[in-house]
Amino acid sequence: IVPLSTSQQNNGNVRWDDVGGLEDIKAALCDMLKWPIKFPKLFKNYSKGALLHGPPGTGKTLIAKAASVESGLTFFNVKGPELLGMYVGESEKCVRELFNKARELAPALIFFDEFDSLCMVDAPPGTLISRVISQVVTELDSLKGSQVFVLAASNRLELIEPTILRSGRLDRVLHVPLQNDVRSKVAIFKALTKNFIFSSNFEIGQLALVSEDVSGADIYSACVRAWIKAAKRAIAYNSTGIVVQTMDFY
Ligand code: ATP
Repeated sequence: IVPLSTSQQNNGNVRWDDVGGLEDIKAALCDMLKWPIKFPKLFKNYSKGALLHGPPGTGKTLIAKAASVESGLTFFNVKGPELLGMYVGESEKCVRELFNKARELAPALIFFDEFDSLCMVDAPPGTLISRVISQVVTELDSLKGSQVFVLAASNRLELIEPTILRSGRLDRVLHVPLQNDVRSKVAIFKALTKNFIFSSNFEIGQLALVSEDVSGADIYSACVRAWIKAAKRAIAYNSTGIVVQTMDFY
């Protein structure tokens, strides 16, 4: 059984402004969660779930956390494979218990990461995956009128069983791309360096220009490296402040 106490994780208090760029997706999720929570009766037939798909490290988990914090939802963070490989019948039971717990602690958001491992297309009938898919479908169909929402994430849209994406289930499919335009990259750098102190000649735009084909996760690594370089320099010079320079990022 999935330890619900651990899957019901801290969402890190991530806010929208911690997520650089992805404005369309923020707006779509805001829409999907805000109105049904505010006016449950009016929006009882509104979408209960969405699938976020795109390359690794583009911020799918981050945006799910921010959505839960900004909408005041209890956050359940489940990695698809965690629910598999159990005794016969246990995986389905686990899915059932997860949704029951979410109903109990509603308003709530269940986030399934690596969803393709759980709801993979073309699973032969009777197999573990096909039984899990049936259970997930049953649970999604029972969410109408509840204050439980579901987000799922995958790197590969084509691997997801289409039944799950039908109307009334995860019927919003949102692509989370590698953000390659300068404006979005600057937004990611800014979101990740909110607490940095920069030298006066620091140029964030320059960083965004030289970094090509990078994900938010790559930018995060560059920011951590830069911070460590600056911290080492501060220690070496016995300085009181950690000041980050543009070159620290390279
Ligand atoms: P995967 O598909 O591998 O699970 P993911 O799309 O869920 O990846 P995240 O886990 O959300 O990616 O991102 C990893 C880290 O990269 C985040 O915790 C954050 O530090 C950074 N990051 C990614 N995208 C952004 C973004 N748009 N703005 C700010 N930080 C970002």
